[in-house]
Amino acid sequence: MKANCWLDTSTVGVQDVPDPTILDQRDAIVRITSTAICGSDLHLYNGLVPTMKAGDVLGHEFMGEVVEVGPEVKNLSPGDRVVVPFPIACGRCAQCTRALFSLCENSNPNAWMAEKVWGYSPAGIFGYSHMLGGYPGGQAQYARVPFADVGPLKVPPGVPDEKVLFLSDIFPTGYMGAELCDIEPGDVVAVWGCGPVGQFAIKSATLLGAERVIAIDRFPYRLRMAREQSGAETIDYEEVDLYDALKDMTGGRGPDACIDAVGMEGHAPGVVGAYDRVKQAVGLETDRPHALRQAIMACRSGGTVSVVGVYAGFIDKFPFGSVMNRSLTIRTGQTHVQRYMKPLLARIEQGQIDPSFVITHRLPLEQAPRGYDMFLHKQDDCMKVVLTP
Ligand code: NAD
Ligand code: ZN
Ligand code: ZN
Repeated sequence: MKANCWLDTSTVGVQDVPDPTILDQRDAIVRITSTAICGSDLHLYNGLVPTMKAGDVLGHEFMGEVVEVGPEVKNLSPGDRVVVPFPIACGRCAQCTRALFSLCENSNPNAWMAEKVWGYSPAGIFGYSHMLGGYPGGQAQYARVPFADVGPLKVPPGVPDEKVLFLSDIFPTGYMGAELCDIEPGDVVAVWGCGPVGQFAIKSATLLGAERVIAIDRFPYRLRMAREQSGAETIDYEEVDLYDALKDMTGGRGPDACIDAVGMEGHAPGVVGAYDRVKQAVGLETDRPHALRQAIMACRSGGTVSVVGVYAGFIDKFPFGSVMNRSLTIRTGQTHVQRYMKPLLARIEQGQIDPSFVITHRLPLEQAPRGYDMFLHKQDDCMKVVLTP
């Protein structure tokens, strides 16, 4: 089959790879009909996640048609259309039974690698490095889906792929980012990053009752989408002093909750940006946590900082004194997607949201390298690329 593979830093390519086969009784094989490129894939593309090998099949946002099931998969049959959640989870371990699916204790065969960096291992993830399981991903014609009796969500007939594809990751991720803020009536929520995840965090904060949402980025087309699609107020952080602007907009108190939808490749103008780039280049920090630092400093005392942007390792100049002295709460995680798929499908079916609003580019799988390049460099007002195998 054809699959989009990680070849080296800044290089992906569509190659012939072996067709997946059933390896476990709880596996299914899915013929992929739609797949997408995520901001998390850019961290791989930019060489910031260790333990990638040339030829690894990328992609963790995908859906398609079941073509084969293992004997223990009783809930799916060939022909069913499914969306596949990006964390691989057994549904039976201590973490899965607490609905903490992205922490499944049974899905990472390379847990020892993750333990070295993080202490304990989270769940395996499709197409996301060997330290997270070495599973071939879904930017391909077919994928093997482990624990298919637990993860995949059956899609009702008649609902187009584009409306439900993002249940695999970015809609639940933005939603969890907002849910972790425990939004109360009257709350002001600020969101760093107006990429696809930020857009869903902004919309979800509104769905969950925020009175005002303030969206922060520097790309005018991304800020425009936040205004037009979700009624957010927006700040271009290159045009104003962000801290002062947020303070002014919130009666001098700061937003009640701040969501970091940027992650480890935060952009920072001037000296701070140069500092982070140099420290990262020489290995003294792994991540550039500029947005996280700002979210902490800007948050109202006693407020919540919700971090859904991905961080990989060690950060520097972390204002922990601000967290401690001002009683901030930090909440974070890879999304427990399986927990959110059904309730969010219901919101789609009720017409509360049509997640396809973020799609700006549709390309055949063969053009995945062009898709990565466009998405990374924000060419042609690129927001979200959907690939069709
Ligand atoms: P993206 O790269 O398209 O979006 C990031 C946005 O942040 C860009 O628009 C960029 O301009 C903006 N940005 C950069 N520096 C900034 C700063 N200092 N202040 C404000 N904005 C800034 O990616 P995306 O697909 O939207 O993903 C965003 C993050 O979410 C990534 O880190 C990704 O890995 C992560 N993610 C996490 C999960 C999860 O399970 N927690 C799932 C999916 C994605
Ligand atoms: Zn993702
Ligand atoms: Zn589990």
